[in-house]
Amino acid sequence: MCLESNLEAHAVGGVLLGRRGKANVPKDSIGAYAVQCGKCYKWRLIPSKEEYETIRETFIEDPWVCEKRLYTSCDDLADIEYNTSNLWVFDKPNIPKAPPGTQRMLIMRKDLSKMDTHYIMPNGKKLRSTVEVEKFLAAHPEYKESLPLSRFCFTVPKISEDMVPKNLEKRASSLRRKKRKADVEEDN
Ligand SMILES: [Zn+2]
Repeated sequence: MCLESNLEAHAVGGVLLGRRGKANVPKDSIGAYAVQCGKCYKWRLIPSKEEYETIRETFIEDPWVCEKRLYTSCDDLADIEYNTSNLWVFDKPNIPKAPPGTQRMLIMRKDLSKMDTHYIMPNGKKLRSTVEVEKFLAAHPEYKESLPLSRFCFTVPKISEDMVPKNLEKRASSLRRKKRKADVEEDN
């Protein structure tokens, strides 16, 4: 189960693709984890998925700020800038952390249209939906206590709209309009 939220993308944790994970950990499509400071809006990299999932789990009631990281303040330069040369995806806040012994995986489709979530269970089984979790727990009652259904959430991140060319085009033309207006005002 998970909480839906209408928070703007900039307020929630963001992640991007591109870097490689550790060799022995099952890999999903996320290359690096980042959170945005609630005060200065700079992006800070989070070193591990585990730490990222911990921050994301309570992001609404406990928003992340730079001071939470040792020796870091809002005056420091951003770790990473949001840009269109990387593919960014934005998580919903407050997704429960993957239960102990499981891995929550986010896989990008080949055509980059959508991501899919699945869990890898302690016995290696891959589960793709709440219904599959229910069936799994019915077949393996020994997991019922440590892996309650409420800890599983199949919500997928939103893919950054900036990567859609028509949006880029729209944005560019609106910038051009703004610039023209500014030029006119200057002339007066
Ligand atoms: Zn900050």
